[in-house]
Formats: sequence, C-alpha cells, structure tokens
Amino acid sequence: MPDILLIDGLLSQAFSSFEGNVEREAQDYPAIACHKGCATCCTLRVTATAPEVLLIARYIAWAKFADGEINLAKRVAKANQQTCGLDEAQRVKLRRRCPFIMQGACLIYPVRPLACRGHACYDKQACVDAAAGRVERIPISEPHRLFRGLIQNAMQSALRDSGYAWSLYELNQALQLALNDESCDRRWAGGEEVFAPARIAEVNPEEMGKVFEQIKFRASSDAEIAPGTLH
Ligand code: SF4
Ligand code: SF4
Repeated sequence: MPDILLIDGLLSQAFSSFEGNVEREAQDYPAIACHKGCATCCTLRVTATAPEVLLIARYIAWAKFADGEINLAKRVAKANQQTCGLDEAQRVKLRRRCPFIMQGACLIYPVRPLACRGHACYDKQACVDAAAGRVERIPISEPHRLFRGLIQNAMQSALRDSGYAWSLYELNQALQLALNDESCDRRWAGGEEVFAPARIAEVNPEEMGKVFEQIKFRASSDAEIAPGTLH
C-alpha cells in the first residue's frame, strides 16, 4: 500500500541518517552510559510524529504480542488512562513507566521513535538522581540531542511541504487512537490530522512553520551564494 511504503521509506531514511551521523560525531565524545536494562529515563513523556506512531502501531499488530501473555494494546490503554493530558513536568512527577518497558528492555526497540533514540547520557547515576528530584540536569550526549533535533525538524518540514499532518504527538494517546482505528494510516496519508487530540500543546505550529521557512530560505540563499564564492 502506498501509504505504508511512504511511512516505511521516510522513517528508514530518518533512522539510518540519525544512527550514521551520531556514530560518526560521537567518536570525539566520551562513551555514553546507556545500555540494555537501564531504563530510568523510560518514565519521561515520549513525543513522536504521525509516521512514527503509525509504524509502532503496525509493529505491535505485526509482532502479534496480543497472542501471548503480553497485550501491548492493553498496556498502552492503561498507560494513557494515567498520562493523558499531563504536561512534561507533570509526567516527571508521576514517574509512570512507558508501557513498552519490560524487565529493563524496550519491547518496540527496532521501531522506537527519534525522541527515544536521541536521549542518551554519560552518567547513569545522574539519571537516577534526576528521576528522584535530586538534580535538575543530566550530562546528555550532544550528538544524540543535536541529530535528533535536526532530523526530526527536517522530517516535519518535509511532511508539511507535502501536505501531511506534521505535528508532534504524545505517544501513549496517539498510539491508542491508532490501535483503535485501522483507518488512521490511510486517513493520515490523505492529509487528515488523525492524532490531533494528542498534539503536544507547548509546540506552536505557526511558530514552527515560520522556523522551517526561515531555515529553507537560509539554505536556498547559501546555495545561491556558494557557487559564486568558488570563482
Ligand atoms: S539516558 Fe540515563 S537512564 Fe536512560 S538509558 Fe541512558 S543512562 Fe540509562
Ligand atoms: S518506547 Fe522504548 S525506549 Fe522509548 S520510553 Fe518506551 S520503553 Fe523507553
């Protein structure tokens, strides 16, 4: 189906660009402390674009978790009941674990969103202290933060230019909408904002749109100037 191909193509490009850039840039930085089984940060609010939400929903159905003892759709619904409508600060306070964390491992690891890929830290204890409210800042990995932002912005800008809904959504709520309605991917591919109720309130679409236009303008100006500077 074209809508599925569109989502897969876009995300495989975004994820591989993220991994490749981070791997190259991180060579000049200390090793990160993140490893399998370390999941203190998996209580934070997760944001995702519509293609990421749709990919995770499809992965849940494809992996057939619901046939075994793990019913991910039920776990998402329960998490959403507790987290729906809470902002980032309230989520930090609530410390509700992500519905996908099990024995320290992420059950959707191959399709986790850029927000999760881009959160990495140099000090595990600092994450524990931050979660307990003992410190406010943790030493996060700059290459992860930088490329998560760049690639997410590029993806949102491309979606916007192509007439697709390009906002950021709270993962639990958006996923519940996707899991409850199989037509979401088709309707999103038709230009509908299917996850609007889960939109992150702090992100102003008009302001974001202006930023994307400015970046594109600067990029095209640089491209026009660049050849001249060679002569
Ligand atoms: S960010 Fe912190 S809590 Fe999360 S995996 Fe890395 S070290 Fe562990
Ligand atoms: S999706 Fe996976 S990596 Fe992201 S918060 Fe949930 S368990 Fe952690």
